[in-house]
Amino acid sequence: MSLNEVKKQDKAVFEAISGEMKRQQEGMELIASENYVSKAVLEALGTVFTNKYSEGYPGKRYYGGQDYTDVVEALAIERAKKLFGAEHVNVQPHSGAPANMIAYSAVLRPGDTVLGMDLSHGGHLTHGHPVTLSAQIYNFVRYKTDASGKIDYDELEKMALEHKPRLILAGFSAYTRQLDYERFQQIAKKVGAISMFDIAHIAGLIAGKAIKNPVSYFDIVTTTTHKTLRGPRGGMIMCKAEFAKAIDKATFPGFQGGPHMNNIAAKAVAFGEALRPAFKSYAKQVIKNAKVLEKELLKKGYKIMFGGTDYHMVLVDVMSSKGVTGKEAEHALDEAGITVNKNMIPDDPRSPMDPSGIRVGVQAVTSRGMKGKEIKQIASWIDEILSAHGDTAKLAKIRKEVTRFCKKYPIYPKV
Ligand SMILES: *Cc1c(COP(=O)(O)O)cnc(C)c1O
Repeated sequence: MSLNEVKKQDKAVFEAISGEMKRQQEGMELIASENYVSKAVLEALGTVFTNKYSEGYPGKRYYGGQDYTDVVEALAIERAKKLFGAEHVNVQPHSGAPANMIAYSAVLRPGDTVLGMDLSHGGHLTHGHPVTLSAQIYNFVRYKTDASGKIDYDELEKMALEHKPRLILAGFSAYTRQLDYERFQQIAKKVGAISMFDIAHIAGLIAGKAIKNPVSYFDIVTTTTHKTLRGPRGGMIMCKAEFAKAIDKATFPGFQGGPHMNNIAAKAVAFGEALRPAFKSYAKQVIKNAKVLEKELLKKGYKIMFGGTDYHMVLVDVMSSKGVTGKEAEHALDEAGITVNKNMIPDDPRSPMDPSGIRVGVQAVTSRGMKGKEIKQIASWIDEILSAHGDTAKLAKIRKEVTRFCKKYPIYPKV
């Protein structure tokens, strides 16, 4: 990545960017929502498309000069359709949260009831957490997982019959088990609700065909493009043809103005990459690596929530396993060069700011080429760090090992 001009003009920003590059290169990134985009995606992001206003959609824009914006947006749409088998795709949502807000506004009226998953059970803030705008507009009712860690479909059905939601929402940021698409769809159908799945975390696993594709089962599917899908930061909405108009109108002019066309160009590049065979191998390897992490942590006596993982991450109850809080664990790991996030566990007795768990994802380190052997090493470090969490000297020593290790897996290998 060339930074010659930034370096010349703006030393302060240049230093921040360089520092971040070094941090990403030397650290072990295990936050489950992050990844490393390719150089091609980075290049597409930094292009003249950022100069262009292109309100509207390909072939139907408000301003002139759309020869090339139409080309890249149409490419992004066409590739996304192919990847996910979607009937209709809108690639303009700026990110995951706006994509959800847009989807809600396309099919709901203020005051309508939505069934969504509880945040502490692995749902997402944008699924109606009281702190969000959507919770002020719509009436969210939350369902949970059962003691075995599976979504309690009988309870979900009972709640659906009782609350008569207009929308039933699946999707999660910390829940790690495969969803029963058929059962979910049946429940929505039974109560006449629209079904929506927010696949933000698992879109890459679906695109890489490592897990079953849910798109044909749901009326609306929202996603981010920057998590396992390994594209630029952004959002996307897929839907059945009958919702296409409503989704497009809700996106623009309903919620957003001009699309970020440099970002859409980068989405097109990322989707092109995800269509290649190498991405299938990547998605498979991600799940394999997550299973190794799960097994290793179990062996060391850690409690893995939801009875294990089918995806790219594990949710670990560090409080009951090690007597460290999520915040302490996050801090100790950070000190040793390993980045994770503290996370609530189902019905967490502790506060969201200092919960009982940590969420650990392997999709980013898999992008760096790490496999079983490396994941075992990571699990050992995690255990060592959490066992020595007050010992600054020990953490500093591990940090050196982690840095040395990470340098062997360049995030942007020379091509
Ligand atoms: C990450 C995430 C979002 C929000 O995406 P942003 O790009 O951060 O706005 C929405 N839903 C789920 C399930 C997510 O994991």
